[in-house]
Amino acid sequence: MILVLKQGISPDEKEQLMDLLRSENCRIKEIEGVEETILGIVGTIQKDIRYFETLPGVAKVLPVSKGYKLVSREMHPSDSVIRVGDVSIGGDRLVVIAGPCGVEDRKRTLDIARVVRRYGAVLFRGGAFKPRTSPYAFQGLGEDGLKILSEVREETGMGIVTEMTSTGQADLMMKYVDVVQIGARNMQNFELLKCVGRIGKPVLLKRGLSATIEEWLMSAEYILSEGNDQVILCERGIRTFERYTRNTLDLTAVPVIKKLTHLPIIVDPSHATGIREKVSPMARASIAAGADGLIIEVHTEPDKALSDGPQSLYPEQFEKLMRDLYVIAPVVGKQLDYTYLEKAAVMKKRGGATRLPPRVVYTGVSGSFSHKASEQFFGTDIPCRTCSSSREIFDAVQNEEGALGIIPVENSLTGSFHENYDLLLEYDLKIVGELTLKSVHNLIGFKGAAMNSIQKVYAHPQVFQQCREFLAKYPQWDVVAVQDSATAVRRVKENNDPVEAAIAGKDMAELYQMTLLKEGIETNPRNFNRFVVISRTPFLDGPNNKSSLIYSVGNKPGSLYATLKIFAENNINLVKLESRPRQDKPWEYLFYADVEIDICHNEHRHILEGLKEKTEFFKLLGCYRRGFELDS
Ligand code: PEP
Ligand code: MN
Repeated sequence: MILVLKQGISPDEKEQLMDLLRSENCRIKEIEGVEETILGIVGTIQKDIRYFETLPGVAKVLPVSKGYKLVSREMHPSDSVIRVGDVSIGGDRLVVIAGPCGVEDRKRTLDIARVVRRYGAVLFRGGAFKPRTSPYAFQGLGEDGLKILSEVREETGMGIVTEMTSTGQADLMMKYVDVVQIGARNMQNFELLKCVGRIGKPVLLKRGLSATIEEWLMSAEYILSEGNDQVILCERGIRTFERYTRNTLDLTAVPVIKKLTHLPIIVDPSHATGIREKVSPMARASIAAGADGLIIEVHTEPDKALSDGPQSLYPEQFEKLMRDLYVIAPVVGKQLDYTYLEKAAVMKKRGGATRLPPRVVYTGVSGSFSHKASEQFFGTDIPCRTCSSSREIFDAVQNEEGALGIIPVENSLTGSFHENYDLLLEYDLKIVGELTLKSVHNLIGFKGAAMNSIQKVYAHPQVFQQCREFLAKYPQWDVVAVQDSATAVRRVKENNDPVEAAIAGKDMAELYQMTLLKEGIETNPRNFNRFVVISRTPFLDGPNNKSSLIYSVGNKPGSLYATLKIFAENNINLVKLESRPRQDKPWEYLFYADVEIDICHNEHRHILEGLKEKTEFFKLLGCYRRGFELDS
């Protein structure tokens, strides 16, 4: 059952309540939400549920209807995020676990680890104990395999995911492993489940070959009931009558699981299909369906693999898949970050000398697009601070040791955010990273408000532009520009008048507990904002592959062409070129250019010098790492 506590409950009242519940011999899990605190109670409770409703400090009591309790969404409404070292599974950043089926030898394992790490895997998989259908098949290297996996972690920084097949391996798991995998064949090995519950390390729980989702969640409940709530579910295909694939990937499990439980879910398209060429399409589909990540078998020489070679991707196929996922992720509100582990390492070091923790500054409130961009770029661990204007961000980054700023610079439909380009021009800060975020706008108002009764709508001016076609259908609406989306929704909430509405992202509606009157009202669904990270000092070490520039050229024939010729002759891909009137010299123009090259690199000095020579004004805004790897 769930006890929802009264908002004003005193610490004494709460302690008394907890004592009473403990005396009933139940397990208590406290979950603090933004609005309310709830206590999840599990155990055989003798008393009538209504008794608990009479206790001081209790607002209401809700029975949990499912057989599984601790894993149910009712018990824990928000998503659980499982930490494995620097990696978080279940947030907005996709987690890709890759590696061979089994650890075969040291060299091969390290070779595979290096390639998957390079293309964006953040955890490494490889079995040292292999549960094989045939007793004559390769059974794994045992502890020697675990030692090789430790070497992989040492060299690459990737945490290790490996299967545990018997309770006798508990000590070895404690010593060598970051995530303990429970294989499909062991999903209902209850002694093993209880054992990994006690080990306390994160558990990757695969779905059994013929297990229903309910049975799978009951198995997860075993682990949580031992006090370990770090469980990652893994759909790996189930056995059906279909024989063209090794198993049948039940992708519906992803949204079903998301509804039933707070635990993250990843997909294993390798075992689900058993056929190399089917792995990438199903991996892409899994991410589109909302999975938090993937576990994929990759091998440098799959023809020689001792197990599961036919379903292992070649490194080039893995590279291509990751590039596809990089594109798909923002469409479903997520990111694939090739520099995930590097960033984590840098963030730990940053601010080191001053002992000040690094901070990210952004505009808007928690839940704003800028805040989301910050979480997707840096993760959720880094302290964030909000500023009321872009200038304040620039000042903070300029003056505070270790501070990093995140600002939107461009919308895919409406172009540059000139205010921020002006500030980039004015301050001497550098762009050190970039991120793309999809903007979905919604009409937000009071529950039950009818479209034709709305009179006034608040939004940021750029947002109005992005929703022009929708707004054109309601010419009678009075549109009021405000500084950001949070202000828009807050204004409506405060005015408490159902004839008013705001346009903003979904998170804002949740934050202010307002209703989505109409979802996805942006004119073009290909509506993305590009954010950049600004810093006083360098951020990630190279190799960089993108540079942003601002320049102006003289008012004479061919002067712009002269700069473009430099890009053309050096085979440089120009990915942005935009002109904007100079504020200080009417009818003269500044050009904003982004090029796919590290123009700061010594090797390219002649290009930089050439550009300076051909321009009247030139400012290098920064050289940084584009989101994805290009060369193989
Ligand atoms: C594996 O991951 O290599 C494996 C044996 O998986 P499953 O338990 O899903 O068959
Ligand atoms: Mn395998």
